[in-house]
Amino acid sequence: MITAEAIQKSHSVHCPCCNAILNVVGRHEQTIPDDQEWLTDGDTVDGIWDALSDPQKVPSAFSYELMMGCCAICGQSHYAVTASFMNANYEQSGVESCLSFWGPYDGQRNYICYGTKPLTDTWLLMVFETSLGPMFHHTFGPFLLKAS
Ligand SMILES: [Zn+2]
Repeated sequence: MITAEAIQKSHSVHCPCCNAILNVVGRHEQTIPDDQEWLTDGDTVDGIWDALSDPQKVPSAFSYELMMGCCAICGQSHYAVTASFMNANYEQSGVESCLSFWGPYDGQRNYICYGTKPLTDTWLLMVFETSLGPMFHHTFGPFLLKAS
C-alpha cells in the first residue's frame, strides 16, 4: 500500500553525500537554494509505451525520466527517477504538454509518499491541476552516483 501525506509546511530534499539541502518543497511550490537546480540533465526512458498491450495503454498516459544533478556544496553527482501520470489517452491533445511541464497548470499540491515493504524510502509527489485533470509527478531520489 502507498500513502500520500500532504506537505503541511515544507520538506527538504538533501544531498545523498553531504546532506546539504538541494530543494525545499512547500505545500504548493518548491524553492531551489541559491537558484542551483538540483537536477540539471536527463532523458526520457523509452520503450515502455511500446511494450504495453493496447488495453494497458487506455486511458493512462505517462512519462518516465532519469535525471542527473550535481551538489553545489560537495560536487558529488546524484540521480533521480521521475514518473508522471495522467488519467488520459496519450494521443489526446494537450496531454504531452502537461506531462512535459509545458503547462498550463491551474495549481500544484505537494505530498510525501511512503509505502510498505519493499517500498522503504519516501518520495515526492507533486500533483499539477490541468484542464484535462490532475497530472501526478513522482520523484524518486536523489541517489548517489558512484563511479565504478
Ligand atoms: Zn553534497
